Amino acid sequence: MKDIKVDVAVIGAGTAGMAALRAARLAGVNAVLIESGELGTTCARVGCMPSKLLLAAANGLHDAHSLAARGIEGTHALEPDYAHVLDYVRRERDDFVKGVLDEVDALPDGILLRGGARFEAPTRLVVGDRVRVEAKSIVIATGAAPSVPDELKVFGDRLITSDDLFELRTLPKRIAVFGAGPIALELGQALARLDVDIFMFGKGGGVAALTDKPVRDALAAALADEFYFDPDAKLDKMSLEDGVPTLRFTSPDGEEHVERVDLVLAATGRKPNLKPLALENAGIELNDKGVPLFDETTMRCGTSSIFIAGDCDGVRPWLHDAADEGKLAGDNAARYPDVQAIKRKVPFSIVFSEPQVAIVGASYEALDRQMTVTGEASFESQGRSRVMRQNRGLLHVYADAKTGKLRGAQGCGPAMEHLGHLLAWALQLELTLDEALTLPFYHPVVEEGLRSALKDANRKCHEERSETPPALPGAAGC
Ligand SMILES: Cc1cc2nc3c(=O)[nH]c(=O)nc-3n(C[C@H](O)[C@H](O)[C@H](O)COP(=O)(O)OP(=O)(O)OC[C@H]3O[C@@H](n4cnc5c(N)ncnc54)[C@H](O)[C@@H]3O)c2cc1C
Repeated sequence: MKDIKVDVAVIGAGTAGMAALRAARLAGVNAVLIESGELGTTCARVGCMPSKLLLAAANGLHDAHSLAARGIEGTHALEPDYAHVLDYVRRERDDFVKGVLDEVDALPDGILLRGGARFEAPTRLVVGDRVRVEAKSIVIATGAAPSVPDELKVFGDRLITSDDLFELRTLPKRIAVFGAGPIALELGQALARLDVDIFMFGKGGGVAALTDKPVRDALAAALADEFYFDPDAKLDKMSLEDGVPTLRFTSPDGEEHVERVDLVLAATGRKPNLKPLALENAGIELNDKGVPLFDETTMRCGTSSIFIAGDCDGVRPWLHDAADEGKLAGDNAARYPDVQAIKRKVPFSIVFSEPQVAIVGASYEALDRQMTVTGEASFESQGRSRVMRQNRGLLHVYADAKTGKLRGAQGCGPAMEHLGHLLAWALQLELTLDEALTLPFYHPVVEEGLRSALKDANRKCHEERSETPPALPGAAGC
């Protein structure tokens, strides 16, 4: 066994781990990066990027098919060439992966250690069976992996996850998708828009992590118009009959179905990669799911010299947070024991389905309903949304009834990725509704829908305070 001594050891060469390594090296300390799997990051290889590439191809076809309503004929005959679409997705994906591989290749010799890391002691790791690393501080950045419920394992080799989808050489005719979270919605809708017959089954009624019921219902209704979608599915029987996945279920309208599909996609959540780390030797406290307890403002686990970042910490499972947390953990690991706390950015997530989803700020359940007003805007008759023929969805913005300060928002609708950013920035700047409404809004734009929601909340706020809201200029037709 080779023994090495370093200041910082980072476990996992994903987005969080790479950011931690960069921060530690920038701080001038001696650091190593340990990786057991494929290099290139989850985001680039099997996550954010290939999923958006597949969606973009699917939306292109969908939009083209929809042109007849605008008087442009002939596009309904367009057909996807599945082998070509998947090949395109992989080629573009590989280019994103290459960017990461180039960065790793450029690291000086000895920084990248290949093999699975596990703790032998709070400051000691074993990598594979050949290297022992003694580190003053350690960053755990091991990511997460698809979590597949046992009941789906009956489908054997017909069962795939998002890790497998982009490696298919072609797409089959019929796929069952289990899950109704962000990954299920994005991949399921992409497949549906590529003319694959989709049956999507959620559990317990949750959709896209939305907790505001009217917004969730608006999204579920829009999706159910496009493909079979039951967010609270009760499957009577799932089996593999003559090698064919067979599903017996009752749809929400009470009709009984027997559907045979070619593949089953499990998009039923992701679980932190922590088990192989032997955290029992790390001397840190774990929660009931086996995830280390840590401080979100420093990423430090308890009072130890161990830090955690990215999807493996079980909160904020999004790319920008993996990068932010990695940088923070790497900074603090390098300066340990002089750990510094920062104010974290506003929580913010997007789902790239259509309608898109944005969730910003305080979680809806955490809001004090007595002290909160909800401003609402529907996109059904919103001018620009109608022009774009994307007039589905609902936006709710939450504000403190007393101060008018924005607290959060949940919405589904067109261009929600952009409205979500405006809201996240407004929250981060701690704007009140009055202040947000003094900002410019062009016409005709989807942002006018956001203004309608802000105005509605502002009116309710002023009603709560028995005041007259300040007069604001209106925009024609919106
Ligand atoms: C299909 C899909 C779509 C997504 N779309 C989006 C999106 O649109 N926007 C968004 O913000 N987020 C999206 N995400 C989430 C985003 O990809 C993740 O939040 C992000 O990639 C997490 O980065 P990470 O560094 O925590 O983990 P990873 O990139 O997974 O890195 C962890 C690394 O640790 C390694 N490792 C694990 N255990 C060990 C060990 N014991 N020893 C050594 N190495 C180990 C792994 O091999 C891996 O390389 C998506 C995810 C998926 C799956």
